[in-house]
Amino acid sequence: MKPDINEELQRIVESLNAYVELEKKSGSDFLSYPKNKKSAALLASGGRLMMDSLESLKSKKNMLEALKLEVLRSDCCQLCRTRTNLVFGSGSPNTKIVFVGEAPGREEDLQGLPFIGRAGQLLTKIIESIGLKRKDVYICNILKCRPPNNRNPFPTEVLACEEHLAKQLDIIKPKIICALGKFAAQTLLRDQTSISKLRGKFFDYKGTKLIPTFHPAYLLRNPQNKHLVWDDMKKIKRELKRNF
Ligand code: URA
Repeated sequence: MKPDINEELQRIVESLNAYVELEKKSGSDFLSYPKNKKSAALLASGGRLMMDSLESLKSKKNMLEALKLEVLRSDCCQLCRTRTNLVFGSGSPNTKIVFVGEAPGREEDLQGLPFIGRAGQLLTKIIESIGLKRKDVYICNILKCRPPNNRNPFPTEVLACEEHLAKQLDIIKPKIICALGKFAAQTLLRDQTSISKLRGKFFDYKGTKLIPTFHPAYLLRNPQNKHLVWDDMKKIKRELKRNF
């Protein structure tokens, strides 16, 4: 089991306090090099503990957890007042590919997890169609809170939430981002071109490859277009195989 970070920080503080006490007794001004061996050893162990703690804090999982807490505590737009749960994201933080949808729906809002309704089940199949498992990719949305009655997000809400997504992607550093549907693609690319024209092509998003495809909810209504999404997924598979 991983040591609790608070306990570790407590130990660091205690060892540094003990060091200061010993140095005081030796008549030191604290800024100079430790005067006796015991305080030098204490200082060294405090430093090592601190490095260990910083290392464990730095893991992608921990950084995402910290970001989730930050988002939970912030009151960044009106949607946090009407949501049931924050839908931050799920899956592996160490993935090469992140799927980004629009916003949580009813089921997602109730359970706090992205893409778990009918569209989510289809997304799972789409992911599996290229030999990946849902738990091995990361799934999130542009908006972290459900707009009431699934209405379209307001530009102010997108603006407020987009910075959380940017931080999430910055932590995960995927090789490929797959934007699901018109809303995610147009928002991330700052491009109002239709999804039919954007889909299936690779674009640049802050140095990362981004490929838009149709949203699974659209596919449920238009199953005749499923083959286009399979084509896009094959491009993703080829790209992952060739370059990463
Ligand atoms: N549609 C989305 O865009 N995101 C979800 O999480 C669920 C449905």
